[in-house]
Amino acid sequence: MIIIMDLNASPEQIREVEQEIERVGLRPFMNPGVERKVIAVLGEMDVHKADLVEHFSTMDGVSRVDVISDLWKLASKSYRPEGSTVRVQDVVIGGNRIVVAAGPCSVEDEGQLLEIAEAVKESGASLLRGGAFKPRTSPYSFQGLGEKGLKIMARVRDKVGLPIVTEVMDTHDVNMVADYADMLQIGARNMQNFALLKKAGNTNRPVLLKRGPAAKVKDLLMSAEYIMAEGNQSVVLCERGITTFEDTTRNTTDINALPVLKRLTHLPVMIDPSHATGDWRYVGPISLAGVAAGADGVIVEVHPDPGHAKSDGPQSLKPDKFAELMGKLRRVAEAVDRTM
Ligand code: PEP
Ligand code: MN
Repeated sequence: MIIIMDLNASPEQIREVEQEIERVGLRPFMNPGVERKVIAVLGEMDVHKADLVEHFSTMDGVSRVDVISDLWKLASKSYRPEGSTVRVQDVVIGGNRIVVAAGPCSVEDEGQLLEIAEAVKESGASLLRGGAFKPRTSPYSFQGLGEKGLKIMARVRDKVGLPIVTEVMDTHDVNMVADYADMLQIGARNMQNFALLKKAGNTNRPVLLKRGPAAKVKDLLMSAEYIMAEGNQSVVLCERGITTFEDTTRNTTDINALPVLKRLTHLPVMIDPSHATGDWRYVGPISLAGVAAGADGVIVEVHPDPGHAKSDGPQSLKPDKFAELMGKLRRVAEAVDRTM
């Protein structure tokens, strides 16, 4: 349920509505950064919903009460029909401009990251991605450099000037990763790690939330809601492919998910063609398809020597191929009335 206040509602009237929400055992949540004062009402209210709508409609200063029928509330398109943007330092995701995040799957050493960061910046990327904590299928595979990798990322960020996005896998590491990173990534495998989602919801860092390989679009939205219900509204969703019976690619890109998400939520949406396909040869076409289908951004794995990458080499673009892709992306962005 959302309570839309009159444009000229007084602070006292707003406070009274908030107090009344608490009095009936629910939680008021103010929609920040919006001119119109909208109070979301969170909590279990199924049986009394009709009574509550009636009750709040009669309060002073209230213009209208709307029921949000979606299971996700703060993430619902009806909560912010105008769409929302998420800032990562100076980079705005969800505006007209398509944002590209690029970098290696894993941070391997400072020289490697610096070389990649300079190359992708030169080609027009605005965020640097890289993993320091790696969720690997095998416990014997490279697990990432941990905090050392975060330190490398932070130094490269300071040298090159690209904000950094990196994965956090463990609730105990969230604050530490947030100290280094400009944006936290919650990976596909942890999309429904609710303790981790809540912890990220209590930081002031924007979150890149990737869709689980076996998660429905609705599950992804409920996971975003977990972060938002804790107070953190800066969530960007990411389609990164799902598991299907098809085995010529690592995953199957659910291209449908892009326009579907755009209809169901106000949150910005990115596409990750690297994990979605698992093969550098398909990364270009699927990036272009993603932007054509409405993605607000693309996240691409780039490595100068994919054959020796510590993870995900086969799906990594070499810097020259990435530069080529950026040129094509620019043209597709223009065709769908976006900029780069
Ligand atoms: C990654 O971004 O390197 C990664 C592990 O992604 P995902 O969680 O989508 O598999
Ligand atoms: Mn990867």
